[in-house]
Amino acid sequence: MQSSLPDPLGYNSHADGTIALEPSATVFHYAQGLFEGLKAYRDANGKITMFRPDMNMKRMNASAERVALPTFDGDAVIELMKQLIRLDKHWIPDQEGYSLYIRPTMIGTEAALGIHPPNAALLYVICSPVGPYYRHGFKPVALYGTTEYTRASPGGIGAYKLSANYAPGVMVQKEAAKKGYIQNLWLYGPEHHVTEVGTMNAFIVFKQADGVLEIVTPPLDGMILPGVTRDSVLALARDHASGKAPIEGMPEGKLVVTERPVTMKEVKKAAEEGRLVEFFGTGTAAVISPVDRIGYEGEDLHIPTGPDGMGVISRPIWKHLVGIQTGKIPHEWSVAVE
Ligand SMILES: *Cc1c(COP(=O)(O)O)cnc(C)c1O
Repeated sequence: MQSSLPDPLGYNSHADGTIALEPSATVFHYAQGLFEGLKAYRDANGKITMFRPDMNMKRMNASAERVALPTFDGDAVIELMKQLIRLDKHWIPDQEGYSLYIRPTMIGTEAALGIHPPNAALLYVICSPVGPYYRHGFKPVALYGTTEYTRASPGGIGAYKLSANYAPGVMVQKEAAKKGYIQNLWLYGPEHHVTEVGTMNAFIVFKQADGVLEIVTPPLDGMILPGVTRDSVLALARDHASGKAPIEGMPEGKLVVTERPVTMKEVKKAAEEGRLVEFFGTGTAAVISPVDRIGYEGEDLHIPTGPDGMGVISRPIWKHLVGIQTGKIPHEWSVAVE
């Protein structure tokens, strides 16, 4: 009989998958916890790949460092994730759009009431089969331009995937839902800078006066979570713009890609002048989430989307990125599991 009392590491794991922790484990009191999210895909030939897991390991180590949890060898954990996926591969549904969501997690397990770097921690990985985010075509979301609350602040923890970042957003999202919006558009500072869309990175497409299309996302200034999807969209858009790797279906004409601050004043003005081409969020779960309406200071800004819910830029980028993730388009970002 296995004892349910945690050992000196602060936890006991059981054969049924549960873990026993001391009630004083530091994760419970001081939010010494963090997580990651990535996906494994099965292609048409049954080959299984992960998408850019090195990026997640790098970010997980950065998160760990920020809350004084131990850092670790990211390559070694990628190897362990591969072994886990090989064991669990029958859980990846064999249908278009399905994948295995992988959730590496780290928690401080030391039984202690003092606030200090925990002497014990647990890194574990759980998986869950997930279906297509948009089962019946894209459904654009309405955002509530949130100025009453902040998600992140300079010198804070917004750039890290720490557990402490997420609980405070739940009630704020519920308030937005009560007003008829799906998600929060987190605005920061007196000039209402665009930061993130719920738990996704924000992208805006402006038509400049000379007709050039500009794809913009806020810079990694310490308040923005460095999304893997954000980085991938930027890289693909830049390679298209430079002619290095054209993306099928992108609009003709000049395109520029920039990381710069954007205020709601600029977004509103562009919307009024008919130059707001697109607004979308990026993240592992939905990949790209188009926005068709933003509630801001008592009025609604409307953003055009096509009949399929997508825009002229997000549609071809989404297709290309999902093509890479699902193995239809070969790319160095795909890491073979077996
Ligand atoms: C996870 C997350 C993202 C998206 O990151 P991906 O690596 O693209 O999944 C964006 N913003 C926040 C706040 C997040 O937690």
